[in-house]
Amino acid sequence: MYDDVSKLIEVCNNLYDKQLVSGKSGNVSIRLGDYIAITPTLKSINGLDEEDIVLVDFNFNTLSNGKPSSEVGMHLEIYKKRPDVNTIIHTHAPYATGFAFSDKKIKRLEGFGQIKKPYIASIEYEKPGTENLALSASNAIKEEDVLILKNHGVICVGENLKETESLAVFIEESAKTQFVSLMLNSVKDII
Ligand SMILES: [Zn+2]
Repeated sequence: MYDDVSKLIEVCNNLYDKQLVSGKSGNVSIRLGDYIAITPTLKSINGLDEEDIVLVDFNFNTLSNGKPSSEVGMHLEIYKKRPDVNTIIHTHAPYATGFAFSDKKIKRLEGFGQIKKPYIASIEYEKPGTENLALSASNAIKEEDVLILKNHGVICVGENLKETESLAVFIEESAKTQFVSLMLNSVKDII
């Protein structure tokens, strides 16, 4: 059973309300069989209407009005390599992205699924919206559910919107917790 466009819009609004995306950043898509539904380019993902959502098939043909997110190539490549994935959320969530702009890795904290690896995987910087980013990200996320894009942001993938949204929130919370502990541990005495 696939998620539908109205649920996609609801999740976009949730991500905005939770401040995981701001301005016109971030993009979200769902798989709908032979094509995907994705958020549009150059628009905030907050308050989108159903007609704002763009349908694109796996040959890059746009099947509706509007222009898809500039990261549509990355979404399509991930869906091609991950048949189990039906939802992709890409954000520039501030804490996790702060880590992406540093040499520190985000630990995988308890609270979401099994901890198989101690740190969240990351890939080196590639220019946003490029084929290089699409290929690098889709290769790296083959066995992951979260990927940090160095100097850029975060990708979360999952079987459905609800699960993927929870994961995106959890990763940001994890990054926030680690940021606070790093700060506190960096000072000797705050009393
Ligand atoms: Zn981005």
